Amino acid sequence: MASISTQSVTEVHHWNESLFSFKTTRDSSLRFENGHFVMVGLPIDGKPLLRAYSIASPNYENELEFLSIKVADGALTSRLQNIKVGDEVLVSSKPTGTILTDHLLEGRNLYLISTGTGLAPFISIIQDPTVYERFDKIILTHGVRFSSELAYQDLIKRQLPQNEFFGEQVQQQLIYYPTVTREAYSTTGRLTDLMASRELFKDVGLPQANPEHDRFMICGSPSMLKDTCQILDGWGFEESRHGQKAHYVIERAFVE
Ligand SMILES: Cc1cc2nc3c(=O)[nH]c(=O)nc-3n(C[C@H](O)[C@H](O)[C@H](O)COP(=O)(O)OP(=O)(O)OC[C@H]3O[C@@H](n4cnc5c(N)ncnc54)[C@H](O)[C@@H]3O)c2cc1C
Repeated sequence: MASISTQSVTEVHHWNESLFSFKTTRDSSLRFENGHFVMVGLPIDGKPLLRAYSIASPNYENELEFLSIKVADGALTSRLQNIKVGDEVLVSSKPTGTILTDHLLEGRNLYLISTGTGLAPFISIIQDPTVYERFDKIILTHGVRFSSELAYQDLIKRQLPQNEFFGEQVQQQLIYYPTVTREAYSTTGRLTDLMASRELFKDVGLPQANPEHDRFMICGSPSMLKDTCQILDGWGFEESRHGQKAHYVIERAFVE
């Protein structure tokens, strides 16, 4: 079992009644790739209660950031949602995961397909300057039920384009594509439907995805992953497995 360190909460932000994010101090020895997840938790009755969490912050930041669901009767999140600045949380020291750009073949456009908290690893990846060197366009999609779940819009739309080091690249290369399923919004519908109907590609002004030029990273519910893989496989894309480079990578945003 990976060793666990105790970190202090430095910031908490509640997006709505079902979603919050928090920052913690970072162990100076913790090294991770953008896209990795760690185990995060709390000591409950003297024992660590840990769950997998994607790291939302980029690997050059001094602090760690996480985006979390609030499950009313969830063993961890029923408690974690009450954390305050100064509280202690547990963070494992062995980051891991499959949504790494190094697992993808060279390509032109990078599609980041996320639903719900599946956005978290992509918030790290869009803050990675090397991603803008490797790909022409980075298309960040986020499918949610209600618009209040569209977390990090200020970072995506305002702060990153003003980043002093790579803001200009963000302005030219990052395309943000949020979609909402249960209320009116500028784009509505399930991401899988928008992909299958080709509407997504039309909306972002790019050609229909093809394995020669396009790469995909997907993070969402088990059923969303199944549907998205089915679409991509049907178009001739191949999934990267065991670190072997291919056209797309996937990670579960949670286990049902
Ligand atoms: C690789 C990986 C990365 C993950 N990254 C994150 C992350 O960045 N942020 C995050 O909030 N969760 C993430 N999860 C899920 C997380 O590990 C926990 O399931 C979550 O924190 C809830 O814990 P819990 O003990 O309160 O409830 P659990 O007992 O773990 O879950 C109860 C039920 O709630 C639902 N659920 C759990 N997590 C989610 C979720 N994220 N979105 C929608 N429904 C959910 C499921 O139906 C689940 O059966 C990840 C899971 C995996 C496998």
